[in-house]
Amino acid sequence: MEKRIQFNRPCIAGNELEYVMQAVRSGHTCGDGPFSKRCQAFLEERFGARKALLTTSCTSALEMAGLLCGLEAGDEVIMPSFTFVSTANAVVLRGARPVFVDIRPDTLNLDERLIEQAITPRTKAIWTVHYAGVACEMDEILAIARRHSLQVVEDAAQGVNASYKGRWLGTIGDLGCYSFHETKNFSSGEGGALIVNSAEFEKRAEIIREKGTNRSQFLRGQVDKYSWVDVGSSYVPSDVLAAGLLAQLEWMDRITTQRGEISGWYSIMLAPLADRGLLRLPTVPDHCVNNFHMFYALAADLAERTALIEHLKRGGITATFHYVPLHTSAVGQSLGGRPGTLPVTEQLSERLFRLPMYFDLSQRDVFRISGEIGRFYGVQPARS
Ligand SMILES: *Cc1c(COP(=O)(O)O)cnc(C)c1O
Repeated sequence: MEKRIQFNRPCIAGNELEYVMQAVRSGHTCGDGPFSKRCQAFLEERFGARKALLTTSCTSALEMAGLLCGLEAGDEVIMPSFTFVSTANAVVLRGARPVFVDIRPDTLNLDERLIEQAITPRTKAIWTVHYAGVACEMDEILAIARRHSLQVVEDAAQGVNASYKGRWLGTIGDLGCYSFHETKNFSSGEGGALIVNSAEFEKRAEIIREKGTNRSQFLRGQVDKYSWVDVGSSYVPSDVLAAGLLAQLEWMDRITTQRGEISGWYSIMLAPLADRGLLRLPTVPDHCVNNFHMFYALAADLAERTALIEHLKRGGITATFHYVPLHTSAVGQSLGGRPGTLPVTEQLSERLFRLPMYFDLSQRDVFRISGEIGRFYGVQPARS
């Protein structure tokens, strides 16, 4: 049998080891060293962000957002149920309650038309998630937030280097959260960043990230000693990790272009199946620029998806489903979630499957994957 096609393989840009060695040799291995500064400067310049702060993960960045939004017991935060647990955990950790709203059938993003009816006097913020690196309808969401004086946080874990109407994801709301986990486009194994877009949060973000101290100001010589000034935790990653990340960030265009190629091959090869209505391929609105984080498709129903994933597995190909909707999970139900209340989320999450997508996935691999899918449906894929 041919070799197994994995679901994900981290990209190696090439300079990772050299930069890591420099970081180790320099003796500055704790956080906010030269490589961290270069990564932060890169993100700030490239995306025009007011401030980028590296964090140990996107989960950490989301937890910082929960603290910065001042969430307290009884507060409510509107978010999709179709997301990773970290989006909701960051809110629950503050004693606040996630209020799950259904998603749009086309992009699988928070449905902005359903937000206003979910707002109550306890609503503090809207937390958006840009699924698969395709933007939420941010203009509408920002307008709703302004009308009701709510904060907007973007979980842009999957949205690094993707844009909405010319604005980079993560820089549109008050705060943005990036992930540099192994499974994301640009990676340091584990890692993330908090993007601070509103002046209001700038000073406090730095303090919360440094265990609740004003150490950052001290290191800049702005105060003569540092001390405990607020709550906080340890959200600063080692400079060794930042060194590896810098090598990846420097390859941002190259990685994105290559992923775009791969995504294009899938779209062309699977088009005959989509044309016959057997599969639904991803929708990217004209005003959104994709970073090709993921290639997913929708099967007819849960039984068909299960059989297809099994068929691909037998053919040596790893495909996966994605989120179990949070409102139907054990914790979600303990927070008041009930199956049957978010029909689009529930139906589409049962139909969705993700195909292998990584930097060195070859055209031949994509043809083999498309061929197996074609065999399952009895339709020849196209050659690109
Ligand atoms: C990957 C991901 C996260 C978590 O990122 P980590 O860096 O692993 O903490 C959060 N939200 C979404 C939408 C994600 O895809």
